[in-house]
Amino acid sequence: MLTSSTIKDKARGLGFDLCGIAPAGDLPELTFFREWLERGYAGEMTYLHRSAARRADVRNVLPSARTVVVTATNYNTDRPYSTECADAGRAHVARYAWGDDYHDVIGGRLDALLSWMRHEAAEPFEARAYVDTGPVQERVYAQHAGIGWIGKNTCVINPEIGSWIFLGVIICSLPLEVDLAALDRCGTCTLCLEACPTGAIVAPGVLDSNRCISYLTIELRGDIPEAMRAAIGTHIYGCDICQEVCPWNATPPRSPDRAWQPRSVWDRVDLLTLAGCTDDELADSLRGSAMRRTRVQGLRRNIDTALGNACDAETPATRRRRTDS
Ligand code: SF4
Ligand code: SF4
Repeated sequence: MLTSSTIKDKARGLGFDLCGIAPAGDLPELTFFREWLERGYAGEMTYLHRSAARRADVRNVLPSARTVVVTATNYNTDRPYSTECADAGRAHVARYAWGDDYHDVIGGRLDALLSWMRHEAAEPFEARAYVDTGPVQERVYAQHAGIGWIGKNTCVINPEIGSWIFLGVIICSLPLEVDLAALDRCGTCTLCLEACPTGAIVAPGVLDSNRCISYLTIELRGDIPEAMRAAIGTHIYGCDICQEVCPWNATPPRSPDRAWQPRSVWDRVDLLTLAGCTDDELADSLRGSAMRRTRVQGLRRNIDTALGNACDAETPATRRRRTDS
């Protein structure tokens, strides 16, 4: 029999760490997206403007939608946090991109969950499954599915497993029992706002993509604005700083899932090695990885920027010489 409870059991069996059900209703948090776009915070991500009407409500994607099944998958591994690395020549890659492309892995598991739901359901139903690429505000539905609250750093945070999670959604016409929404537990903490090197978190829960290293190194095409280059540091793909400082990520569980373990080519790689790679070698390194999004051209731009920053950085030796003089 298909119920919210049996769906959650099946989701766990398929490798999802969390599963909750949200209503496909008028959720108040959905409305801010328009204002966020109007403020220009989406930068050059014009596809967000084009899909704004559909993103306003999942019922614009699937008119018969009654509920949204939300899954969360922990991708944290046992590698040290990147900001703990003292090596100025190390290339920093956001940890979600260390392993296999989550679109493929999570997408396959969501497809399996949806197939099982169709098999178990007494009647046919309509559904759409998305992993990040759909016109859906996944984080809002995750909050209303009880997965976690949307933190001041804009990430969904679960009190047990933190925010190193991939979200997946199945919008469906089934009238499933829904979960209680997660409560905001950021409290008076402002660590992420203080730690962001570019001031991209312009207010609690409000991100200006134009200033965010993740946007600048992944979504932006063309040159990185001169004024932002130094703050990027040695990040060549994404940025984890506002999650690394979050107290709710202090002792996150480690996933044994092979899919999220660092690929050897991206495990503790240094900038000089990357700079010496041919385009074909870089293209090979992106195969099967979420990092494909930036393409070789974008990756090369990021490596050059990061290498310039690493060369400009004060080394311990020069710092000592300066202090001694
Ligand atoms: S990802 Fe990095 S640049 Fe973007 S908001 Fe977080 S700390 Fe700031
Ligand atoms: S660092 Fe603090 S304010 Fe930021 S998301 Fe985590 S708990 Fe919330």
